[in-house]
Amino acid sequence: MANRVPITVARGDGIGPEIMDATIAILQEAGAAIEPQFVEIGEAVYKAGHSAGITPATWDSLRATKVFLKAPITTPQGGGFKSLNVTIRKTLGLYANVRPCRSYDPFIRTRHAGMDVVIVRENEEDLYAGIEHRQTDEVYQCLKLISRPGCEKIVRYAFEYAVRNGRKKVTCFTKDNIMKLTDGLFHKVFDEIAAEYPGIENEHWIVDIGAAKLADTPSAFDVIVMPNLYGDVLSDVAAQIAGSVGLAGSANIGPICAMFEAIHGSAPRRAGQDLANPSGLLLGAVMMLVHLGQPEAAARVHNAWLRTIEEGIHTYDIFQDGVSKQKVGTSGFAKAVIARLGKTPEVLAPVHYLAGDTGPQVRPATHTRARKDLVGVDVFLHWRDGATEVLANRLCALDAAPLKLVMITNRGVKVWPGGLPETFCTDHWRCRFQAANPGDPVSPRQVIALLDRVEKAGLDFIKTEHLYNFDGEPGYSLGQGQ
Ligand code: NAD
Repeated sequence: MANRVPITVARGDGIGPEIMDATIAILQEAGAAIEPQFVEIGEAVYKAGHSAGITPATWDSLRATKVFLKAPITTPQGGGFKSLNVTIRKTLGLYANVRPCRSYDPFIRTRHAGMDVVIVRENEEDLYAGIEHRQTDEVYQCLKLISRPGCEKIVRYAFEYAVRNGRKKVTCFTKDNIMKLTDGLFHKVFDEIAAEYPGIENEHWIVDIGAAKLADTPSAFDVIVMPNLYGDVLSDVAAQIAGSVGLAGSANIGPICAMFEAIHGSAPRRAGQDLANPSGLLLGAVMMLVHLGQPEAAARVHNAWLRTIEEGIHTYDIFQDGVSKQKVGTSGFAKAVIARLGKTPEVLAPVHYLAGDTGPQVRPATHTRARKDLVGVDVFLHWRDGATEVLANRLCALDAAPLKLVMITNRGVKVWPGGLPETFCTDHWRCRFQAANPGDPVSPRQVIALLDRVEKAGLDFIKTEHLYNFDGEPGYSLGQGQ
């Protein structure tokens, strides 16, 4: 056998240890050239005082092996615990989360026969930056960060994935009719990169109608690339409508390291009963073998698994009278797959993985820097002392020349000048100051002088956002109604 490759393995929490033991047993029987290094992560590690759920020794193992096969873990309820999955993905730069969701009709019940969708989810940014602040009595904020390199990496990965896997179309979901700068950038980069792949069809849907179409007619989609939050939500939807969340595996790919897992969680209520379906983790492990350059072992496992499914040997979550033949637990399912190693499915299409293709790896392009001009500032105030007009009069009286108040919004809606009494206002106000001729340059000193006056006037400023033009184009949104 080829040299065994060291991989880091975490058995996780809840059903994790059972499904991991089943998975490792199948991989070893299939002749996968792997050398597991077991580490502990998750609940016990959190409880031992590591607030991220992971120890320095595990980071060392991950950085040495660069490949992580991970069972689900339980994130303890309550504050003070950060999600370990998000921490690992971001710390190791695992920018691409690939989640194939397909149906196995007529062997597993689904309303969507023939569904075969791959969701490519951006994994490092968006609202998952996890930067949140409480700013006033009433208002809390979560920052949504989208970067050009982040968009370029994930969109190019999706197209490269399509090319290598014989896929015909890449669809992009965003909400850029509302978030014109952040989601707008994702869509713009998608259009730019799509133009480089004339052989692959491309399309964009606003995420709400796109999600509705995905849930209704998944056969209309092939590869779908999305920002982090939409991808997180919709990949669970896609896996569930394909048959079960217990069936889908997931690869988290970065330039140096990669992590493979099931998409489901630790299902604590099913733990320790030899009930859980190990298929999601096993299919994640199949993606790992492809990544490790072991396509034959990957196909051997995948085909034996398809054959097991086809013969109706099913765990409780996919068992259906009249379709399934034998109900098995986790270990019984593993034994059934092992017994079929070397066999291929007879009805479902057998899989074949190409030698030498360990998956796409992409890097963002370098860009020249834009000319950046400061043209104003949004000063956010915590204010609860009267009507909008009272606040506007106090701000206009600040004598902040050359800066001048041009607009006040409340949660993004323009309330001054010319607001409506019907608009509901919280205690969180955005007050936009620009030069008398908006677009004229402003200096940082003038912003500091303005804040000095705001503070001396007894107004409670909670944060500022600078308004910049980039190569003459505004890098900020207008108020709703402006
Ligand atoms: P879950 O995915 O663990 O379970 C939801 C339900 O789906 C279960 O009750 C069970 O009925 C079914 N299910 C899931 N996996 C199954 C399998 N392999 N076989 C059979 N049935 C299965 O979701 P949850 O209950 O929301 O979360 C439980 C815990 O898992 C939480 O602490 C959560 O934070 C964590 N979680 C971890 C990960 C991860 O480690 N990657 C992902 C999601 C959730």
